[in-house]
Amino acid sequence: MIGLVSLLPTTTILRMLNISKIREGFPILQRTVNNKPLLYLDNASTSQKPLVVINSLVKYYKNYNANVHRGIHTLSQEATDMFEEVRTKLQQHFNAKHAHEIIFTRGTTESINLVASSFSQLLNKGDEIIISQLEHHSNIVPWQLVCEKTAAKLKVIPINDKGELLLEEYEKLLSSKTKIVAINHVSNTLGTINPVKNIIEKAHQYGAAVLVDGAQATPHIEVDFQDLDCDFYCTSAHKMYGPTGVGILYGKEKWLTKLPPYHGGGEMIKEVTFEKTTYADLPYKFEAGTPNIAGVIAYGVAIDYINKISLKNITFYENELLEYATKQLLNIPKLKIIGNATQKAAVISFIIDGIHSSDIGSIIDKLGIAVRTGQHCTQPIMQYFNISGTIRASFAIYNTKEEIDVLVIALQKAILMLS
Ligand SMILES: *Cc1c(COP(=O)(O)O)cnc(C)c1O
Repeated sequence: MIGLVSLLPTTTILRMLNISKIREGFPILQRTVNNKPLLYLDNASTSQKPLVVINSLVKYYKNYNANVHRGIHTLSQEATDMFEEVRTKLQQHFNAKHAHEIIFTRGTTESINLVASSFSQLLNKGDEIIISQLEHHSNIVPWQLVCEKTAAKLKVIPINDKGELLLEEYEKLLSSKTKIVAINHVSNTLGTINPVKNIIEKAHQYGAAVLVDGAQATPHIEVDFQDLDCDFYCTSAHKMYGPTGVGILYGKEKWLTKLPPYHGGGEMIKEVTFEKTTYADLPYKFEAGTPNIAGVIAYGVAIDYINKISLKNITFYENELLEYATKQLLNIPKLKIIGNATQKAAVISFIIDGIHSSDIGSIIDKLGIAVRTGQHCTQPIMQYFNISGTIRASFAIYNTKEEIDVLVIALQKAILMLS
C-alpha cells in the first residue's frame, strides 16, 4: 500500500504528459539528417522551437511590425503593448517584485557583460570578485576584463571530483573585500545544480552582491528571483524553446538604480544636450536602441508553452531521462561520466577511454544524432579533470528513452569502429 501511495504523484504527472503529442509540435523533429531521423541531444547549446513560437515571429512581422515606445500611431502602440506584456509575464514567471526589474538583452552573455561593465564603476583596486571553476566562459571573461580595468582581484571557488562546488572553500574566500559573487545556477557541462540560495545568503552576510548565470537552469527547473534573493539573474530565451538573440537581465531595483547605464543611445534618455544627458527610468535606462521586438514577443509565447506543460512536469520527466541515460551509458565499457553531482539537471557529459570525443561525435552525426563534443565553453572544467573535452548529451521535454537507446547503440558502433 505504501508503495502504491508513493507512486501516485508519479503516475498522475506522467499521464499528463503526452510526449509524442509534444514532439508533433516541433516541426524540426520531423526532418532527417544523413537519411536518419534527427535525434537532437544538444539542448544545452540551444533547444528546438515549437511551432507556436515560430508562428508568433511570422505573425508579428505580418500584422504588428512597428518600433516600440516611440510612435503614437496604432501599430506602434500595439507592438509596445505586446512587448511590455512579455516583461510582465517574465516578472510573474520568475517572481520578480517589479516588472521594471526585467531588462531585455540579447541573452545571458550580454546580461553578464552589462552588469560587469556597469558594476566595474563601483569597484576599486583591491576589491574582490568571486566566480567558480564551473563557470561558462561568458561568466569568466567579462570579470577578467573588469579586473584589468579596475585592479580588482578574481577569486575562484574550487570543485571536487563529482563536479560540485566546495562550499567550505567558498566561505574562506568571502570577506569584506568581496564586492560581487558571479555564479552559475546549473553547469552547462556537468549538469551540477549549485546551491545558489545558500551561496547568496553567505555573500549577503558580507554585503556582496550576487549575480546568477541561469542560462542552463531556467529551461529545466523552477526559478524564483525573490525566493533566491539574488541581486542579478541572467538567462537566454533560446535554451528554453524561445528564439535566439533575446534574453533578460533581472536586477533588484536598488542595484539597477545605482548602476550607471551600459549602452548609450536612443530610448534610454530623459534629456540630451551636449552639456549633459539625463537617463530614462528603469527599465529603459538599460535598453538603448531598438530591441528584438519579435524575439521578445516570441519569448513570451515560449514562456506560455513551458507553463502549459509546467516546469514541475518538465523537471520530473527530464530527471527520468537523466537517470535512464546514466544507467544505460554506464553499461558501455570504457565509458566514464564526468560530473556526478548529487543535484543534477538533464545534462550528461562523458568520455570514452582512448577515443577522442570529436571522432565519436562525427560518427554518430552520420547516424542522425546531434550531441556536442569538446569543451563546451568551460575550459577550466576540462583543466580540472585533465581531459581535452567530453561528449555531452543534454535533454529537453521532447526527448525519449527510445532515443537514449538509439544513442547507446550508436555509441557502441562508433567505439567498435574507432578501437
Ligand atoms: C549558454 C550559456 C551561456 C551563454 O548564453 P548565450 O545565450 O550564448 O549568451 C552562459 N552560461 C551558461 C551556463 C550557458 O549554458
